[in-house]
Amino acid sequence: MADRTHLTGMTIDELIEFVRQLGEPSYRARQIFGGLHGRRLRAFEAMSDLPKAFRAKLSEMSTASALTVENRYVSEDGTRRYLMKTQDGQPVETVFIPTENRDTICFSSQSGCPLKCDFCLTAKLGLLRNLTAGEIVEQIIVVLNDVYGESAETPHGTNLVAMGAGEPFLNFEKLLKALSIMSEEQGLFIVPGRVTISTAGIVPKIYEFAKLDRRPNLAISLSAPTDELRDRLMPINKKWNLDELMTAAKAFEKTLKRGERFTFEYVLLGGVNDSDDHARQLVRLFEKHDLRRVKMNLIPHNRAEGLEYYPPTTERVIAFKETLESLGISAYVRTPRGRDIYAACGQLAAKTVESARFVALPMREAAG
Ligand code: SF4
Repeated sequence: MADRTHLTGMTIDELIEFVRQLGEPSYRARQIFGGLHGRRLRAFEAMSDLPKAFRAKLSEMSTASALTVENRYVSEDGTRRYLMKTQDGQPVETVFIPTENRDTICFSSQSGCPLKCDFCLTAKLGLLRNLTAGEIVEQIIVVLNDVYGESAETPHGTNLVAMGAGEPFLNFEKLLKALSIMSEEQGLFIVPGRVTISTAGIVPKIYEFAKLDRRPNLAISLSAPTDELRDRLMPINKKWNLDELMTAAKAFEKTLKRGERFTFEYVLLGGVNDSDDHARQLVRLFEKHDLRRVKMNLIPHNRAEGLEYYPPTTERVIAFKETLESLGISAYVRTPRGRDIYAACGQLAAKTVESARFVALPMREAAG
């Protein structure tokens, strides 16, 4: 039943129109929305507040579930990684990362990715297709249900990062729709301030993003301080070079509220972009564009079969961070534990799973 309407991707207004066409009053739409997003139900039969006949009708013509979990892996540090499939068989990857104070869910915006970052395994898939808003939202629902149980309250403080497979700004409309659905109070209630979008540098979209009223946080995946190196590591740089990217970043910086900063992600590749010189070049790049409210997330690369890159040494990571900090740039190293399988934007490297101390476990039983 590949083309049944996926109601999880509908806004409340769209659901109202949907039920109206079925001759039902608008409060039914709110009941459905509450069932799908508030209680995170993935089957209409479980929506006991709807009449039985209506539930049957909904199941016949639409679906509450467009993703199936093919595999689930749990790291010893609690990180969980999900390999899902869409109704038409496209792969979707999502990661749950627990930390002491808050949990983070790293979701995908596309199946595969059209960009060709040289250090990324997802790039090898090419673009399979954009995910729908419903498929984006359902990734979060699947993970929350698995971790906390269906119908359990969505824990306050769950953060989302669009750093899974795909370039979020190349599926901008669907992404924004998904975020709007997820921010509804009677649903998941994950507000934009708890969401970070990571882009490889789709410059026109950075300007568009900067104009949004209630927008998520922004991270720009940089990974090289010069055009020569970035052209090689992230070929999107040939379309929008560092000068254009940094000019857009400066325009974005000007729209930040007091106290806000934004992030540059930098995947450290051993012997490629991790020298002190590279760190100094980065700082010069920021100075040239007068970027002041930035922080750097340093992500040591993971060795992955099929890629010609190696992790940096621990000493290099420390020296790189210290060089940046000595020149006034805040830098953080993303702790490589089970979470390191997701690395930067889109590095949900399937082949690293075997080596990442993950074990396959069955999904939590669905409650309804
Ligand atoms: S790093 Fe991100 S943008 Fe680059 S190819 Fe991988 S998924 Fe796409």
